[in-house]
Amino acid sequence: MLVALGETNEIVNLLEIKKSDLAELSKQYLRCPACKSQVRLKNGAVKMPHFAHISLQVCQHFSENESFQHLTLKKRLYQWFKQTERVVVEQFLPDLQQTPDLLINNQIAIEIQCSHLTTQRLRERTDNYRVHGYTVLWLMGKDLWLGESLSTLKKNLLYFSQNAGFYYWELDLKYEKIRLKYLIHEELTGKLQYLTREFDFGSENLLQILRTPFDKTSAKLAIKIQQNIPKFIARQLYYQNPKWLKIQEKYYRNGRNLLTIANFPITIAPVGLKMLTCQFEALSSDDFCQITADLTSYYHHFLNYKNNKMVYPPAFYAKIESEKGAKNGKKT
Ligand SMILES: [Zn+2]
Repeated sequence: MLVALGETNEIVNLLEIKKSDLAELSKQYLRCPACKSQVRLKNGAVKMPHFAHISLQVCQHFSENESFQHLTLKKRLYQWFKQTERVVVEQFLPDLQQTPDLLINNQIAIEIQCSHLTTQRLRERTDNYRVHGYTVLWLMGKDLWLGESLSTLKKNLLYFSQNAGFYYWELDLKYEKIRLKYLIHEELTGKLQYLTREFDFGSENLLQILRTPFDKTSAKLAIKIQQNIPKFIARQLYYQNPKWLKIQEKYYRNGRNLLTIANFPITIAPVGLKMLTCQFEALSSDDFCQITADLTSYYHHFLNYKNNKMVYPPAFYAKIESEKGAKNGKKT
């Protein structure tokens, strides 16, 4: 943790303390802003200076074992935000009993997520922010970068906009970049295809960067050649992949065999669309806890347009549909 209560109940923010003042600070009686128990200044050689609870009893509101990556990213983003916004580091919010890494303009909670957490915990924390009127943005450290396929946790860290489709934020401390992965689509095989935009730390207004998924764009994603799908499925069944065994079972029950299907209607689609059946779960889906938008029309429009070479943002399909609607309207 980077903040503590000083002797006169003032908030001590380590990101604003000069190195030369640390020795003096360490002599003070310092407490945790949330649980009020005593904390100690740790000023070791490896991690940057931080506070730690003295009692071994775990505090619910501040995470004790933040990595070098987490602390450093928090510092870098704090300094970056500070150029243009009102930013508070680790502000304990009593109503929520939560402490966002950074709170921007008393409205946007920034969570820098560097390690795994359970989907249930993620959902609880996300919903808690939402019901109290905060927007929460999860920015992912190295261990949670998007990679080649989606885990349940990553699905729940996806965001959605009309201009970027499904998107995901990554922080890269080594190369000092924030990365936006967008127009995220899943192949029938589970492999991901998407576009990437990178921004150097400190380059532009950070809040503006975080709004790019809402900017109008002519972006489109040319689909890379995919592997031989029937061969892929045959291999999954041979190695008894439970997911594909289950699908095959369903086919058998309907008197069909997955292995004899030569042509699949679609082989790449927005996340959440079941390609074999062209079905999707509307609204109540438990997979996307960051997304409140109704994805139904996006899926419908995507299926109507069906193009196996190029995919576009949801706004593109919506425009095509509304133009079609206008033409049909004129005819009648
Ligand atoms: Zn505490």
